[in-house]
Amino acid sequence: MKRFSDAELQRVKDRHPISSIIGPHVTWDRAKTQPGKGDFWACCPFHGEKSPSFHCEDPKQRYHCFGCGAAGDQIRFLQDFKGMSFAEAVEALGGDAEAEPLSAEEVARQAAETARRREQAEAEAERRRREEIARALKIWNLGGRVSGTEGAGYVRGRGLLPCPVSLPIRFVPHLKYWHQRKVPGQKKPELFVLFSGPALLLPATFADGSFAGVHMTWIDPARPGKKIQIEDPEAEPNADGTRPLVAPRKYRGSQRGATLKLWTPERFDRLVMGEGWETTASPLVAEFGMPVFERTAYWVAISLQNLGGKAVASVDHPELLNTAGRPLKVPGPVPDLSDPRAIAIPDCVREFLPLGDGDSDRFTVCQVLERAKARYQTPDRVVSPKLAPDGMDFNDLLQEGASA
Ligand SMILES: [Zn+2]
Repeated sequence: MKRFSDAELQRVKDRHPISSIIGPHVTWDRAKTQPGKGDFWACCPFHGEKSPSFHCEDPKQRYHCFGCGAAGDQIRFLQDFKGMSFAEAVEALGGDAEAEPLSAEEVARQAAETARRREQAEAEAERRRREEIARALKIWNLGGRVSGTEGAGYVRGRGLLPCPVSLPIRFVPHLKYWHQRKVPGQKKPELFVLFSGPALLLPATFADGSFAGVHMTWIDPARPGKKIQIEDPEAEPNADGTRPLVAPRKYRGSQRGATLKLWTPERFDRLVMGEGWETTASPLVAEFGMPVFERTAYWVAISLQNLGGKAVASVDHPELLNTAGRPLKVPGPVPDLSDPRAIAIPDCVREFLPLGDGDSDRFTVCQVLERAKARYQTPDRVVSPKLAPDGMDFNDLLQEGASA
């Protein structure tokens, strides 16, 4: 087997910014990317997603997907995305196993330089995170009361009204939906307002109760209970000429470790946590009046992966492939317990019920539920994951129960 010196590996990586290796395989997100700072975001090339959680940083020479946990450097990317061996990847980047080793001083100098760049990048990331939370707070402050608005029509249409408790929802009659488009001859896509329409807002908070971000759902006032359906003018048309729809929900702020707290009794020892707010509000409405309701908090994990937290490793999806024709990587069943930004479950919780929707990819959902179980089960706490039937979520179940 070929061996490359550490210095040679570093030289190879220094010659190829990681964004230049990954760039040809993704579309950088205009809203979050800052090319001048070597900070790039895209939809993940390893797992299917509609909003960008794949982060690529030139100063750190690392990529990391907050959705599936895929992470590594230039070499790792070529191995995992293109299926190259380690040696093939290094040589594809111009590496030479016979290269002269560097002097000890030069190695130390390079290591110090790498550490300095990493520190700078981390400080910068923290500053941007705080800015993003401040922007999210401005959006949340646009919201007003829901009752008597088109927003109430949506909530009622989902079978969630009358609601026994007051949910922390706000309504905005005209909320801008920002989108991005490619500009010919320009590397960076440009942002524009695709439409402006009625939307419901929910606040996300961290474990200490501080504001983390805002969750937005654009609704269709003409069809109570339905989200807005707007075609994505930038997407490739389907075979029938229609275009895929834009996501009717967005989240701004900092997501990891944050939850939407729909209802928290003063004292509780049971916690129900779903991926979306409608699916989590459904058991709340269904369980109202039962003894169990009195001791249950209903929180929303915001995203499926947030529910299980970071995985130690990704696993190959048994059926789905990535754009390079290799098995799609999804975060595996074993939790990374050192992850400081996993959702914190309060000690008072003796019974934890993570909900998995049946309308997401089942294999991916099962990995998340297994991870949540392994992460949160303790001698004092039972974790009982619940999976909705295939093709359904817990809101479908509530509505079916109501009409039956
Ligand atoms: Zn990913």
